[in-house]
Amino acid sequence: MNSVPFDPRPGLGLRPIINVSGTMTSLGASIVGAEVVSAISTILPHFVEIDDLQRLASRQIASSTGAQAGYVTASSAAALTLSVAACMTGSSLAAVEQLPNTQGMKSQVLLQMGHAIHYGAHVEQGIRLSGASVRLIGSATLAGGYQLDAAIDANTAAAVFVVSHHVVDYGQIGLHDFVQICHAKNVPVIVDAASEYDLHGFLEAGADVVIYSAHKFLGGCTAGVVAGKLDLVRNMYLQNRGIGRGFKVGKESILGSVAALKAWDKRDHAAVRAREDAALQVWKQQFEKLDGVTVQIVPDPTQNPLSRLKFRIDPATARITAWDLADRLAELETPIIVRDHEVEQGFFFLDPCNLHPGQEHIVAASIVGICQSAKVKPQVARTLVERGATKARSMQSWPN
Ligand SMILES: *Cc1c(COP(=O)(O)O)cnc(C)c1O
Repeated sequence: MNSVPFDPRPGLGLRPIINVSGTMTSLGASIVGAEVVSAISTILPHFVEIDDLQRLASRQIASSTGAQAGYVTASSAAALTLSVAACMTGSSLAAVEQLPNTQGMKSQVLLQMGHAIHYGAHVEQGIRLSGASVRLIGSATLAGGYQLDAAIDANTAAAVFVVSHHVVDYGQIGLHDFVQICHAKNVPVIVDAASEYDLHGFLEAGADVVIYSAHKFLGGCTAGVVAGKLDLVRNMYLQNRGIGRGFKVGKESILGSVAALKAWDKRDHAAVRAREDAALQVWKQQFEKLDGVTVQIVPDPTQNPLSRLKFRIDPATARITAWDLADRLAELETPIIVRDHEVEQGFFFLDPCNLHPGQEHIVAASIVGICQSAKVKPQVARTLVERGATKARSMQSWPN
């Protein structure tokens, strides 16, 4: 929630939007901080030895996370593919060039079925992109350590553990047990923590490498921040001579990520939280008065230090469904994009993390306005099937 900077969007014919959805790639991720913008613009005109710049990033990542080493890649999705690749190739330059053909390498990756999520793309596909195959452990809602242990064999290259609000949140093997079982048989553990605030806990729990997105809570430019054991990080870096080439980052993203980590270490996290909580209170007070609406402040499911407003709407009373309300908001002249992953269950969330000052009041007034007019003039309800089909058609007709 920085002060509002110059806005180029109107001049480009791009609609300004208000993001109460979260850090979404499709909306431009997060508000990139001034320190990051400045770091990027200072390095852009200059040549630099990238290996040295990545060494600098490694030192910063080590200092911010407690890892032995780190480096910056294009995204968390890229880092997932490259970490798996590194577990298969080791330090062999020939093997790096051979991928995605995995002949002669261990090539199976273990993943709990409840972690085989879609965050905008499939985690499983990100693993397979390296040439590896995925072996799913357990069932969607129940996985046991004995199943993980029994699945490890001579072809096991790595195991992936996902920390996310998307994973099934019960019946899974916890990270400590997961690491213990894997390490007892020398299987490295890769943790996808793309959207997590905790820069230390997963490494402390024994993860060999942890992956974060620079452009999510860190407020950096688009990049992946990799932190982990020296050998594994180095073997990931080697992939730049192979499948990593298409995932490369430039000097701007490397230095931008370093700046984002430095800014994160210095940020007044309590003040940020207080601003977010104040927005939640504004919303709660405004929406409690609405007929057919129930609101609740809900802590983040993976214990990130933030809360969101759960906005539940009963269409019989409110005369509008949760998804129609979400769509009406997205159709406003300044679209308001809510967090609608679970809208079929009759609720959405409002996320206060990416608000510019004052936008919480626009969000409140818009929602109250639409709900009040729906009471007078009920909205023609769209089914979820129609809604999904419209979205798919819109995607498939881009750029028209
Ligand atoms: C966002 C996310 C990703 C992808 O991150 P990018 O850096 O945008 O590629 C991967 N895994 C999880 C769990 C995520 O939340």
